[in-house]
Amino acid sequence: MERCILHSDLNAFYASVEVAKDPALRGRPVAVCGSESDRHGIVLAKSQEAARAGVKTGMVNWEARRLCPGLVCLPPHFDDYLACSRRVRRIYERYTDQVEPYDMDECFLDVSQSRSLFGNGGEIAESIRRTVKAETDLTVSIGVSFNKPFAKLGSDLKKPDAVTEISRENFHEVVWPLPVETLLYVGPATRRKLVARGVRRVGDIVRYGEENMAALLGKCGRQLYAFAAGLDRSRVMHTDFSAPIKSVGHGLTFTADLHSDGEVGQMLLFLAQDVEHRLRTAALHAGGVEVAVRDTDLAVRQYQRILPAATRSALRIAEAGLCLFRENYSWRRPVRALTVRAIRLTPAGGSRQCLLGPAEQQLCRDETIGATVEGVRARFGKWAVAPAALLGMEKVPGATSHDVILPGQMYA
Ligand SMILES: [Mg+2]
Repeated sequence: MERCILHSDLNAFYASVEVAKDPALRGRPVAVCGSESDRHGIVLAKSQEAARAGVKTGMVNWEARRLCPGLVCLPPHFDDYLACSRRVRRIYERYTDQVEPYDMDECFLDVSQSRSLFGNGGEIAESIRRTVKAETDLTVSIGVSFNKPFAKLGSDLKKPDAVTEISRENFHEVVWPLPVETLLYVGPATRRKLVARGVRRVGDIVRYGEENMAALLGKCGRQLYAFAAGLDRSRVMHTDFSAPIKSVGHGLTFTADLHSDGEVGQMLLFLAQDVEHRLRTAALHAGGVEVAVRDTDLAVRQYQRILPAATRSALRIAEAGLCLFRENYSWRRPVRALTVRAIRLTPAGGSRQCLLGPAEQQLCRDETIGATVEGVRARFGKWAVAPAALLGMEKVPGATSHDVILPGQMYA
């Protein structure tokens, strides 16, 4: 049986939630901005009206205001976004139990088995689109296809409030003429490599051939070839898939050994950035941190500690990691590899122990910084913004290239 996969994407998510909360904002240009109080706040999301005036995600607040004088700037309310995201997911679950969150505002749905109840893929997508709009005041754009990459691509083709079908019959005409970066996992670095070899459009990937793609990009090359050729068979995970995540970690073996607390601190922050990204993607908070250190004798030591308050802030995780390291590592040998792991995970929307006074404010500030960084990276790539402490890291393999994230690696 031909599979039927949907990818549903909430349009201008943060800004739309703000408008749904306050209908007086409807029709006005709205932007959700990080830290209004200082001059460094940036636009995290914008309404269609703001987008039409030229406001872009990642733009500095004052620049957005200059382009769009009537712009309503609001601070982010992540708890509301998470609550809305859950409500919409409950709607999806009326149609299938195979709902895989891809981001706070995006899900894959496998509706292959639902067609006998709800009609064909296009009809199911239409029904979801209408229901989400009627019940939440939010709009979605939905891609309908026989695999995940094309469903994802379809949801980007027409928006807001639209359904796009990509079938076996039309994908050559619809998908192949599009630029390579339209395809899932083609980031700026991969795009540059492909374009340098004349591979500009999705169809060019197929013409370039699987072996050439593999020679150029390794395993990712083969995967991108399968995506472009319509051969991908990856599954949509069951709704409960995210439950078994016990820890979220990231580790690296460095190109040269580390010799000081300073270097280790820098690397811990580098690794913690990825951990924060994964925690955000999985909507989890860390209640503790674990650091694994491998020295030049290849001996591995692991240290753990509980955090004073659950968080997903890279700054907090790195700070706790460095404390652990300083307390435990004797520097008899240089450090060859490090892993940072977030442990004691809890759902991000749940209740959390509050700290007192300034400590709580600082924690909230670090969370907001993390969300802002995440927003910029989602748009401009991993290295678009980084703490100054991470500049000039020569010991990280391929630190200046953009990663291609493979499915499943999110939960490594
Ligand atoms: Mg979206």
